[in-house]
Amino acid sequence: MPAQLIDGKSLAETLRQQVGSRAARFLSLHGRAPGLTVILVGSNPASEVYVRHKVAACEKAGIASQLIRLDATCSSEALLEQIGRLNKDRTVDGILVQLPLPKHIAEKTIIQAIAPGKDVDGFHPVNAGALFTGQPCLKPCTPLGVMVMLEHHNTALRGAEAVVVGASNIVGKPLAMMLLQAGATVTLCNSKTQNLEEKTRRADVLVAAVGRPGLISAEMVKPGAVVIDVGINRLESGQLVGDVDFDRVARVAKAITPVPGGVGPMTIAMLLQNTLDAAESFASLST
Ligand code: NAP
Repeated sequence: MPAQLIDGKSLAETLRQQVGSRAARFLSLHGRAPGLTVILVGSNPASEVYVRHKVAACEKAGIASQLIRLDATCSSEALLEQIGRLNKDRTVDGILVQLPLPKHIAEKTIIQAIAPGKDVDGFHPVNAGALFTGQPCLKPCTPLGVMVMLEHHNTALRGAEAVVVGASNIVGKPLAMMLLQAGATVTLCNSKTQNLEEKTRRADVLVAAVGRPGLISAEMVKPGAVVIDVGINRLESGQLVGDVDFDRVARVAKAITPVPGGVGPMTIAMLLQNTLDAAESFASLST
């Protein structure tokens, strides 16, 4: 029997409407819309597309968005100055510096300059540490979106075997932590993992977050598993695919996310949600 499709696009749309209602309520309570500022350094084509989607999603949800464009040759100091100014601006609830940055700018330094309460990407070490120790914090949008999808689909995580393939700071590692906190037994794999198939075949919940088309074949999936594909890869043909061999894996899995239309839309929905969370917590502190 083919797997059930986990439709991130329609779930994200529902969540965006909920954010819209919260934003309207925030506006009527505080006399201003929640605000997100996105900083784009240079003109990386993929970043341009992501930023455009983020800004458009904000506008649709009633979040006041502002895009600051800086030249690719701008100095770290100029970028830090902008961040310092935004940290103090009471109308800015969320600050997002679009990655990757040009090579001459150290990403770590920039991320650490963002006030943790405005770090809607959830990448600041204070937020990462809070996630690690199970304290409330702003969480990275993509793994948070995966968790919301799993919850929405009533996926049992307590006591389940969860395998995350890909261990980046922005997806794999925080997701492993969130799954662990939800009661799963987690295996986190990277490029050095030996016998990957042996690990993935144990998974009740299998997440692929690598960036390699076709990495997860049907033979690597336990029959009845829930499969989440975070990967986004553009084939030479122009087709957008994930890391999972979707057609074949869909014949063994219980449920699977498509690419596109799976995790991607959830990431943006979570960014909006994080911005509202930041705005509401900021407002509650100042009243
Ligand atoms: P990344 O920083 O390049 O990290 C890739 C991870 O995969 C690393 O941990 C790497 O291991 C591991 N890896 C590489 N080859 C592997 C292999 N053969 N077997 C097992 N692990 C392997 O990538 P990322 O930023 O996390 O992104 C991963 C994918 O998700 C990309 O396709 C990206 O476009 C996509 N993505 C999608 C969204 C969304 O909204 N849907 C958001 C973010 C990212 P090492 O640590 O050993 O190098």
